Amino acid sequence: GRCVVAVDGPSGSGKSTVSRRLAGVLGAQYLDTGAMYRAVTWAVLVSGADPHDAEAVAKVAGEIDLEIGTEPDAPYTHVDGTPVDRAIRGPEVTGAVSAVAAVPWVRQLLVAQQRKIIAATGRIVVEGRDIGTVVAPDADLKVYLTASAATRAQRRSTENATDLTATAADLDRRDRLDSTRTADPLQQATDAVVLDTTELGIEEVVARLRSLLDR
Ligand code: C5P
Repeated sequence: GRCVVAVDGPSGSGKSTVSRRLAGVLGAQYLDTGAMYRAVTWAVLVSGADPHDAEAVAKVAGEIDLEIGTEPDAPYTHVDGTPVDRAIRGPEVTGAVSAVAAVPWVRQLLVAQQRKIIAATGRIVVEGRDIGTVVAPDADLKVYLTASAATRAQRRSTENATDLTATAADLDRRDRLDSTRTADPLQQATDAVVLDTTELGIEEVVARLRSLLDR
């Protein structure tokens, strides 16, 4: 049956790993909305536009064909038919994505696409920053994942093989931009289940979410 799970939280909170694993065990689809903002950012950078020029960013966002795969075992992101999965995780995109994601028109466009995908599948785990508050306020379960700043930086720097101090600074900068922007800032939904993953393993988090869904 229908089952929509919204997973929000800052970077390094364990969102992606938990969401994919949960989708797998539920036999559901998995939607990484961060990958969509990253893909638009990649297109903006490739086009030579300034990521801080809202008008130029909106133009690029409206012109590209964004395709996102939602199988939890093999998610993918294509821009105009080109796979961008590796490029969107690089430092250039990561450095510019918060500016692009702050443009209201980009958010309108992507939120509409996300709602379409959710409606078409009906059984899906969606991860992002505004899923429980904006994209799917009627989700069956809303989760807000957190972890200590030190733990989040440690996870990201291990994942990306980057310097810990630089990673911590970048996370801090991005969290601040994502939480203070005017359009759909990162926010805890009032009815979200809050889980601190600092001391919890992935399997433990997934098991807790499953038991919440079983109630
Ligand atoms: O989750 P990830 O770190 O890949 O997201 C990259 C960026 O995309 C975030 O820092 C945020 O600026 C933006 N984002 C957003 N809304 C979402 C998902 C991601 O604004 N639902």
